[in-house]
Amino acid sequence: MDHKEIKTWLQENDPHRLGELWQTADAVRRENVGDAVHLRGLIEISNHCARRCFYCGLRADHKEIDRYRMSHDEILVCAHQAVEYGYGTVVIQSGEDHALTTQFITDLIRRIKAETNLAITLSLGERTDDELQQFRAAGADRYLLRFETSNSEIFHAIHPPLGDRPCDRIAILKKLRQFGYEVGSGVMVGIPGTTYDDLANDIQTFTQLDLDMIGLGPFIPHPSTPLGQNVKPAPHDQQVPNTELMTYKTLALARIACPNANIPSTTALATLNLAQGRELGLARGANVVMPNLTPTQYRALYEIYPAKACINETAQQCQNCMRARIESIGRTVGTGRGDSPRYHQRCDA
Ligand code: SAM
Ligand code: SF4
Repeated sequence: MDHKEIKTWLQENDPHRLGELWQTADAVRRENVGDAVHLRGLIEISNHCARRCFYCGLRADHKEIDRYRMSHDEILVCAHQAVEYGYGTVVIQSGEDHALTTQFITDLIRRIKAETNLAITLSLGERTDDELQQFRAAGADRYLLRFETSNSEIFHAIHPPLGDRPCDRIAILKKLRQFGYEVGSGVMVGIPGTTYDDLANDIQTFTQLDLDMIGLGPFIPHPSTPLGQNVKPAPHDQQVPNTELMTYKTLALARIACPNANIPSTTALATLNLAQGRELGLARGANVVMPNLTPTQYRALYEIYPAKACINETAQQCQNCMRARIESIGRTVGTGRGDSPRYHQRCDA
C-alpha cells in the first residue's frame, strides 16, 4: 500500500467499505499468523519514571501517585503464575526507572530463565546500548519501545530529553535488531497535532523498520499531564481522532502492511470499549492479548491514563476472562512461546 491508499483508508467512513477492510485484515492475519491468540503475561514492575513525557501519568512531575518498585521475589511469583496459566511469555514493563539497575535486570532475567522456560519481553524505556546488550546476553528475547509518532517535531515536543542524552527511538530500535532482539514498536493513535499524513507515515514506518511486534492504542488524555490539559489539534480538519474506530483502522492497516508481525489487541482499546474492544481488535488484525499479572495492590498505581481497564481483577480473573473472550470468537489459545514468525523468517534467511 502506498501513502495515498493508506490515507484514504484512514479517512474512510462508509461502513460497507470498512467491512471490506476488516475482512481483508482478518484474512491476512489468518493466512500469515493463523488462528492462535498468544497470551503474554504483563508484569508492571515499577511505576517510578525519570522522564516527563507530556502524555503519561507516570511522568516524574506527577507527584500525586504513590510509587512502587517490585522485588525479584515478587516478580518471580508472577512469572510462576504465568507458567501455571500456560502463558509462553512475560512482558516486564516499567517507567524509565534508573534504580532498576543493569545488575537488577540481568539478575532478574537469569532467575526467570533458570526457573521457567518463559520468553522474556522487556519494555523498560530508553536504556543505553551497553545495558541493552547485557540484557540480551542474560537471556532477554524481545524489546518493546514505541516511537509514539513518526512526526519528529511532535515527538520531541511531547517527549523531552533526559539530561543531555538525545532521544532517537528509531536509532534504538535499529540497535535492538543488531543485538538480536525480536523488536516491537508502535504508536498512540490521535496524539493532539497529528494528521492523517502523520498516521499514514507511522504505518509506512512499521514496514520500513520490518517490525516483529506492533503495539498501538488510542491516546487517552490524562488530566494530570500537559497533553491532558492543553490540547492543540492539527489545523484544517486534519487532526486524527483518538477514537476506537480510528484505532481499528490503524490496526487493520498495520496487519496488511506487516502480515507476519505479532500485533496485540491492547488494554487501551479495552479501556475505550470494555465489552468488546479486545474481541474487535482480534477480529480486525490482532493475534496477541496481554493479561495482567501485576499484583492487585500495584495495578491501580500504574496509571498511565485514567480508568484503565482491568485494574481490579486478579491475575486469575484476567486469565479466565481472556480465554473466554478468545474462545467466544472461535479462535484458539496459542501454546508455546509464540515467537514472531517474521523474526524466524529473518533469522532463517
Ligand atoms: N516507559 C516505557 C516507555 O515509555 O517505553 C514503557 C512504559 S510506557 C507506560 C508504555 C506506553 O504507554 C508508551 O509507549 C505509550 O505509548 C503508552 N502511553 C503512555 N501514556 C499514554 C496515554 N495517555 N494514552 C495512551 N497510551 C499511553
Ligand atoms: Fe515514563 Fe514511559 Fe510514561 Fe514516558 S511513557 S513518562 S518513559 S513511563
